[in-house]
Amino acid sequence: MPRTQSTARPTAGPRKRPPAHLAARARKVGFVSLGCPKALVDSERILTHLRAEGYEVAPTYEAADLVVVNTCGFIDAAVDESLEAIGEALEQNGRVIVTGCLGARPERILERHPHVLKVTGPQAYEQVVGAVHEYLPPRHEPFFDLLPPQGVRLTPRHYAYLKIAEGCNNKCSFCIIPAMRGRLASRRIDEVLREAERLAAAGVKELLVISQDTSAYGADLRYARAEWRGATYETRFIDLARGLGELGIWVRLHYVYPYPHVDAVIPLMAQRRVLPYLDIPFQHGSRTVLKRMRRPAHAQDTLGRIRSWRRECPDLTLRSTFIVGFPGETEQEFAELLAWLDEAGLDRVGCFKYSPVEGAAANALAPHIAPEVQEERHARFMERAAQISARRLAARVGQRMRVLVDSVADGTATARSEADAPQIDGVVRIVDDGKLRAGEKSVAQLRAGDWADVEIVAADAYDLAGRLTTIG
Ligand code: SF4
Repeated sequence: MPRTQSTARPTAGPRKRPPAHLAARARKVGFVSLGCPKALVDSERILTHLRAEGYEVAPTYEAADLVVVNTCGFIDAAVDESLEAIGEALEQNGRVIVTGCLGARPERILERHPHVLKVTGPQAYEQVVGAVHEYLPPRHEPFFDLLPPQGVRLTPRHYAYLKIAEGCNNKCSFCIIPAMRGRLASRRIDEVLREAERLAAAGVKELLVISQDTSAYGADLRYARAEWRGATYETRFIDLARGLGELGIWVRLHYVYPYPHVDAVIPLMAQRRVLPYLDIPFQHGSRTVLKRMRRPAHAQDTLGRIRSWRRECPDLTLRSTFIVGFPGETEQEFAELLAWLDEAGLDRVGCFKYSPVEGAAANALAPHIAPEVQEERHARFMERAAQISARRLAARVGQRMRVLVDSVADGTATARSEADAPQIDGVVRIVDDGKLRAGEKSVAQLRAGDWADVEIVAADAYDLAGRLTTIG
């Protein structure tokens, strides 16, 4: 939803009924989606539902009959951004429904924006849709009820997020997601596999599996059994990987914890049933810090586990995120983290400086680390991580690899290999070197969503450059 409208109009109080001129045309809902990929999936589900009922998605505030703002409330900066987005939607449109993580704290919203039509909390799809019905009743017209088979997605056509569960049963001391989103609530495996099958049939070439704790999938359903394609699957992590591996598309697993039962997925990765890629938010390498963080699997020998995974699947890409400057982090514990990082040799790494979140248990831990120390540790961490990444990427020069093209502009195609998740990892840039050999294709022939084969010709700390050899 662009925020470029110039004609501000005064914020109006709630109007319950739609304007009379709407009687004869489709209802148009504007959508502003903030926050993480999980929130994006929530937005997609709400939009899919509304589209199924004949609503249209408005591209601007002016064109919308009302606006839904899906908020994020994870850290204070996200709260501010969400409150600003609500204010903008009110100013530009006047009829606003708020949902998402910040919706779990309606008082924060209503104190600043008393004229929003309704506030609903995270995962409250039905409530959001109900609020849209209340303020903009659907117009029943079979022609408008047609829905594209893949639903409405906010990602490009060739990849899609597949959300397998809501909530989390862990109690990490720096996080308030369980308080905001509730305990783990998994979707039954046949429902997930059917959605994945529909997405694949609609042309999606890469599925990104997300939840708060993918390795815990199904525990709340006691691993319920269900049928799919004539076989029995349990609602559990490994059966999910097996089922998705039947689809013949890229399947990328995010937010997995290093529990022993995760080992069983490595053979599927070695066979390329699912991508040899694991996104594991390790958060730290010091066991004492991990214990204070109350991280799941904090007592596991993660380095031993990584070594054995790589023995079984040498191409495995490991991505992770870390927090430096957690309360009480000593120089010794930080040094343990750097040593752990060296040993683990992770491919992709993100790092955050700890910042308190209202309501998190870690706020009570002491001492809090001074901002300049956090800054210095963050810089040292990122420098080390960049060296490791550069070394691992340099080893790829000369290799041939299959990539999926995300975009093409100005003679360069931006693509991703098995090792690159969209938006968070590096890319493979494909540029014409002007020396096409017999049978080779030019970059100008590539389109977003194409498969291509490339030969890697250069690497920097984060990205690769490749020469196109084959399309398709
Ligand atoms: S695993 Fe920890 S950090 Fe992740 S959502 Fe659950 S409590 Fe929060």
